[in-house]
Amino acid sequence: FGGFGDVFEDIFENIFTSGRSQGRQSRGQRGSDLQYTIQISLEEAASGKQVELTIPRHAACRTCEGSGAKKGSKPKNCETCLGMGQVRIQQGFFSIQQTCPSCHGEGKVITDPCPDCQGQGRVRESKKITVKIPAGVDNGDRVRVGGGGEAGVHGGGDGDLYVLINVKPHPIFERNQSDLHCEVPISFATATLGGNIEVPTLEGRISLKIPAETQTDKTLRLRGKGIKSIKGHTGDLLCRVVVETPVNLSREQKELLTQFQESLDSSKNTHSPRSTSWFDRVKHFFEDMKF
Ligand SMILES: [Zn+2]
Ligand SMILES: [Zn+2]
Repeated sequence: FGGFGDVFEDIFENIFTSGRSQGRQSRGQRGSDLQYTIQISLEEAASGKQVELTIPRHAACRTCEGSGAKKGSKPKNCETCLGMGQVRIQQGFFSIQQTCPSCHGEGKVITDPCPDCQGQGRVRESKKITVKIPAGVDNGDRVRVGGGGEAGVHGGGDGDLYVLINVKPHPIFERNQSDLHCEVPISFATATLGGNIEVPTLEGRISLKIPAETQTDKTLRLRGKGIKSIKGHTGDLLCRVVVETPVNLSREQKELLTQFQESLDSSKNTHSPRSTSWFDRVKHFFEDMKF
């Protein structure tokens, strides 16, 4: 191949982490499997996608139809082993049987190699393959394309192509199997009084009911709003509520809040369940330590 071959070799090294065969291959061997990584979005993983890949690979040489012999010629019986593929070597008293070094066990040699593939029976080519990524695939899944790998040598079958799925991180959702998780900030007033807020799903916005007296870290489950897995199970959307502290308050708003706090302080009821239990625990801690 000369210089061009070297460039191609580099592309191969970068794209494929496995599947390249090293060194000389024996005849009639199945082609190597190839692996190709594609990056898709969470939405594409959920809905499925058809992708067209250009795969650089070895393919059967069309000129010699993979035989490696020049058109009109045929591989001849090996003269060293007389077509047996094995030779006997006399070593002292012993006779050892060995794979024939001339034909590497094939029994045939190509005396008139095909000029297009130098007798290899296959050439490098860029092949366009359309791959259907099924709906519900997850990060790390592999989609197998039978026969999409390297061509076999001298009549061996083609290897397979494995498309490794890499799902890009999503700005809102995190996936756990078929469930989706997201964080939902709500105002202090909504958390206290309850109300409806809009939350995103992969199919658009929907309304989420926030119950009154909702605390930070409460998880609200929206059934069936997750991802439909390959096996057909549809997961849920789990919204973790985070109550936001208001910022940039005006003087008037701060005064209202101060009045509100004074009203809470003068009330006989318990308004802060977490603080109450926290102060109780601190009190017991100090009693146990005998401070
Ligand atoms: Zn050829
Ligand atoms: Zn031989």
